[in-house]
Amino acid sequence: MDQKVQEIIADLKAYLEYLKEMGITDLPAAEPKSEEVSRFIFNLEEVRKELGDCRRCKLHRTRRTLVFGEGNEKARLMIIGEGPGYDEDVQGRPFVGKAGQLLTKILQSIHLQREEVYITNIVKCRPPQNRNPEPDEIHACHPFLLKQIEAIHPKIICALGASSAQTLLKTEAKITALRGRCHEIAGIKVFPTYHPAYLLRNPERKREVWEDMKQIFRLIFEDDDAPQPAGDSRR
Ligand code: URA
Repeated sequence: MDQKVQEIIADLKAYLEYLKEMGITDLPAAEPKSEEVSRFIFNLEEVRKELGDCRRCKLHRTRRTLVFGEGNEKARLMIIGEGPGYDEDVQGRPFVGKAGQLLTKILQSIHLQREEVYITNIVKCRPPQNRNPEPDEIHACHPFLLKQIEAIHPKIICALGASSAQTLLKTEAKITALRGRCHEIAGIKVFPTYHPAYLLRNPERKREVWEDMKQIFRLIFEDDDAPQPAGDSRR
């Protein structure tokens, strides 16, 4: 069977199991009439409760703290990184180390404070030695990430780094090919860019991220009367 089909079946199975665990045993047979009833809407608290003291993948053995995510539950912009690092594992909060400080500055460059956005990761537990999350780990966490996205229902998701962009867009394409333009999943815009940890090692790439952030800013506020991003001098 085609690998993509297998992945879809596995994701669907995990999602149905998740619904069953949440006590939902029936699926609506008819077309729902309004948007409110068209989705099973969970709030973040329910998703966190369901995740519990998660032991669904091997990362639980080496993590100190499960890093669920934080920010505005009604955020227009959702930031999705790869996985917690050392500082995040200690503090239980996403993007609080050096890469996180850079992320805060990047957000400020488009007039956004951390508290206004929602920040989480593809996997909620730190991969040992900050390695990339492995497919089984990503797979175990995926239903919870989808529920977080559904709960927040952001206007746009900014995927930070290759693992995040590839997971969300279900592709193996390189981040260099994915960044710089808007993609879409389930009606939500996804804009990949370089990971701030990569920028710390390759500061010459900051200009490209700045260009990406300006596009993200426009997409967030495209239907509003909103301020324009500051000039390049802010970065
Ligand atoms: N890198 C990530 O991808 N996520 C974090 O939370 C911290 C560093």
